[in-house]
Formats: sequence, structure tokens, C-alpha cells
Amino acid sequence: MTAHPLFDISGRTALVTGSSRGIGLALARGLAEAGCTVVLNGRDGGRLAKAAGELPGDVHTAVFDVTDGPSVAAGIADVEERVGPLDILVNNAGMQLRAPLLEFTDSDWHRILDTNLTSAFLVGREAARRMTRRGHGKIVNICSLQSEVVRPGIAPYAATKGALKMLTKGMCADWGPYGVQVNGLGPGYIDTELTRPLVEDEEFSAWVRRRTPAGRWGRTGDLVGGVLFLASPAADFVSGQVLYVDGGMTSVL
Ligand code: NDP
Repeated sequence: MTAHPLFDISGRTALVTGSSRGIGLALARGLAEAGCTVVLNGRDGGRLAKAAGELPGDVHTAVFDVTDGPSVAAGIADVEERVGPLDILVNNAGMQLRAPLLEFTDSDWHRILDTNLTSAFLVGREAARRMTRRGHGKIVNICSLQSEVVRPGIAPYAATKGALKMLTKGMCADWGPYGVQVNGLGPGYIDTELTRPLVEDEEFSAWVRRRTPAGRWGRTGDLVGGVLFLASPAADFVSGQVLYVDGGMTSVL
């Protein structure tokens, strides 16, 4: 049996930001396995080259810092020249800082805002300038269950992810008329380098398992199907939505 043609994205070109490891690398692998030409992004060229070597198909790397406007502009221009027109952008690069809000410093506030929110604006705008001219494109912003809910010690992270949800809707409003669909994907608790201290905290880890209807931590592979769907023609009339892939956590008290 073959897959339905609505889900066929083979031959498309996809850029995944922050794909040297973790969720971004898993999403890039999924897109490569679906037949896309994939561009990996991060700040460490050596790490990116190693990751690229582990993926199947036509894989490229683009080293730039997603928080720096001029680097983003040059990076996207370079990708389109070397690899070809971008059909799919996944804004995945992100970071987390956990601290009581009263102890949160100005510089940490700006750092997390730049990495999780401004980056999606900068990379999204550069990609969409080209996609809107061509009349098609798919953008997926990696939000979080913390786009909806928050716990103590994580307010700035939740603020960036809540704002990213609204940026997704705003991008949908501005770029939808030009054939570009923009959606969010909201992971629940996923075992990666970013959450390693939480996974290793047995009490917290058990709380995650108890609070998640699926009864376990998420794996990076759990997120692949959602991104493939949002990047495919099956989602041509889906825009401005956030698909939560969280084992049900955001739905229950
Ligand atoms: P990781 O810390 O494992 O990976 C983060 C990636 O982002 C790395 O590849 C890193 O590459 C890259 N990156 C960070 N800053 C920059 C920058 N300024 N420019 C370019 N690349 C950058 O995180 P995860 O895989 O866990 O998370 C990925 C996304 O998913 C994030 O947006 C996160 O908020 C979100 N998320 C994660 C959840 C989880 O439970 N893990 C839950 C919900 C959302 P390098 O350092 O080499 O530059």
C-alpha cells in the first residue's frame, strides 16, 4: 500500500533551525526520510556536520545564529543560493532557563526572548519574503505545552512560547493571502538535552508520568508525524493552529 498523495512532500526543501541535536534533529530526520532535501542549522559547524552525516538523503548544513538579524539574512540567502528555494521552514531553535522570577536577570530575560521568539520572527520573515513572492510555503513554529500553561520557575520561557503562539497566528494572517500556511507544534515533556536535569530528577520525572494521560515522557520521534502533516498538502487549509503533541497533558488538570 502506498501513502496518500496528500502526504507526499518528497522533493521539497526544508530548513530546520536548531537541528544539531534533540527535537530539531529528529524532525530533520523525519523530513529527510519523507524525501525532502534538508538543511540543518545551529551555531556549531562541527556538530552540524556530524549530525548531517547521520541522516539519509540530500542533507546540507547552514551555520548561523538565529538571534542575529544580519546573520539570519545572510544565512537564508546563502541556503537558497546553494540548495534551492525553501518550501518548508521549521522554527525549532530554542532554550530554557529555570529560575524564580524574582531572581531572573535582565540579560537572561533578553537571551531567552531572543532565542525563543525573536528568532522565529527573524528567520520567518526572511523565509516568508521569498515564499510569499513564490506563492507557496509552509512554516511550523515549535511552541510548547507552556504556550498554554505554566509552572513556578518557568515564567519567562512560558512567556516566549505563549507569544510564539500569537506570532504564529499573526504570520498566518499576514502571509496566508500569499499561499503560506503557518502553524505551531506544541511538544509536551520530551526527553532531550534541554530537559535532561528534569528527566534525572526522579520526583519530577515521576510527576510528569503521573500527569500525562499517556503515562510516559515524550520521545523526539513522537513529534515527527505532526510536522510532516503540517508541512504537507494535507494541511493546505490548516493555518494559525497549534497542534499539541503532549500525550494529553495540556487537556487534563
Ligand atoms: P536542545 O537544547 O536539545 O536543542 C536546541 C537546539 O537549538 C540545538 O540544536 C542548538 O544548537 C540550537 N540553538 C540554540 N540556540 C541557537 C541559536 N541562537 N542559533 C541557532 N541554533 C540555536 O532542545 P530541544 O531539542 O529539547 O528543544 C527544541 C525546541 O523544542 C525548543 O524550541 C524548545 O523550547 C522546544 N520544546 C522542547 C520541549 C522538551 O521537552 N524538550 C518541550 C516543548 C518545547 P547549537 O547549540 O549547536 O547552536
